[in-house]
Amino acid sequence: MSTSSLHGAFFLSLALLLSFVSNSFVSAACTHEYGQATYGDIYQKFQGLEASGGSTYAKGARANGLHIYIDPTVTEIEETAKVSVHEYVHLLQQGYLNEELVLDSAPTGGVPLSDSSSSVGNGLRFQAINYCGVAEATVTKHLEALNAMPDDVKLFDHPTFVIFYSQTPGEGTGNCNAAQTETFARDAFNAIYGEDCPGMESTPMIWEANENHVVAEGEAEFLATNVFTSSYTSFNGTAYWEQKIADGKTDCKLPGNNPHFYVHSGSSQDVDDMKDKMQNAGVSPACSNNAIGELMYASFVNYCLEKEGSSALDDWCRPEALRRVWKAAPTQGFDCAFFNQYGWTWGEVVAKMYAEYQVDTSAVATTVPSLCLYDQTCSGEPKPCRRLPSYTHDEALAKCPFEVIASCGDISLSSASSSSSSRSSPTNAAMISAAVAASVSFFFAFFLN
Ligand SMILES: [Zn+2]
Repeated sequence: MSTSSLHGAFFLSLALLLSFVSNSFVSAACTHEYGQATYGDIYQKFQGLEASGGSTYAKGARANGLHIYIDPTVTEIEETAKVSVHEYVHLLQQGYLNEELVLDSAPTGGVPLSDSSSSVGNGLRFQAINYCGVAEATVTKHLEALNAMPDDVKLFDHPTFVIFYSQTPGEGTGNCNAAQTETFARDAFNAIYGEDCPGMESTPMIWEANENHVVAEGEAEFLATNVFTSSYTSFNGTAYWEQKIADGKTDCKLPGNNPHFYVHSGSSQDVDDMKDKMQNAGVSPACSNNAIGELMYASFVNYCLEKEGSSALDDWCRPEALRRVWKAAPTQGFDCAFFNQYGWTWGEVVAKMYAEYQVDTSAVATTVPSLCLYDQTCSGEPKPCRRLPSYTHDEALAKCPFEVIASCGDISLSSASSSSSSRSSPTNAAMISAAVAASVSFFFAFFLN
């Protein structure tokens, strides 16, 4: 409960900071919380302080975007295009968790900007914003890879912009033109969302409370390397995935040498807690969120094959099945949505993974914590929740899908109710942090001037 008031104070100061920046720092007219957080995210990316890809999703907005860094010396452009596909999968996940994506097939008649009064955009589903002089061949390949995805994942009725950033050769950071950071960020924001961000919700939903973070990362990389690959002619996505799994096992000291590899509910908080424990135990920081997600997903695929037979990847374990889980998660909770789709509890799959990687060969499903269903109509600070232990298979049959566990202000079994995540794709917390980072620098400049 004490964390509650701390977070309350945090959000209050955020509101104060935002009121300072709204008229001066951002010349765009979109001044509400979500608009400012989204702008802050783009601004931070153009600063180039941390060159990690991501997605910029805002519910109700007329478009959305992907953040993609390009090292100009890298010649494997199809491998870089894989990153755009990965980030697009995150947009789909966020669209479902925000209950914005309700379609099962692509909208017909093109993808006009939701705000038809705007002249921005060319009406194409995938578009590029390239202020940093990224090579045309690279830009073209990214758009080609996105366009080559199957129609049943082109579900947004608005365009997706790929924002290209330049990365310092051989390094993780880059800023193509420091003097233009603010101009680029404002122009990109206005091109994607519109100066007045028409349609955009003013406050982000607490969608990540219903997100299984581990599955989100694993799915995005699996689809980008093994499934949505028809545009790749020189990049062998399957071999790349298998190498990543091998590298992930090395980095995470699996199988057998990592007694801390407990993904628990799969929430972002549980992954952060697990990484803290691994770090304290001297496991390489290379055992990243992405590696953890990929290892979990590889085990999940094995579980599918084992349960459903050799045709599993064409049947139960096909991409559409997991999309139905994301779609149902905001109303059923991830775990019940997962159980209703596959007929296995999350705990069953995780216990099998612990055995496969020799983390804990005696783990059983009912010792694995479950994610609660979070009621997204709640206002105020996020309260992601999990409970211990997981329900049994029979209990899932009896309780799903109507079980509502977490309600507004419910307790959290995690050590903290929210924290920023190191996931590439921005969570609310990460977006807000970005806005705060941008705001704080202005805030001090304001008083120093
Ligand atoms: Zn990702």
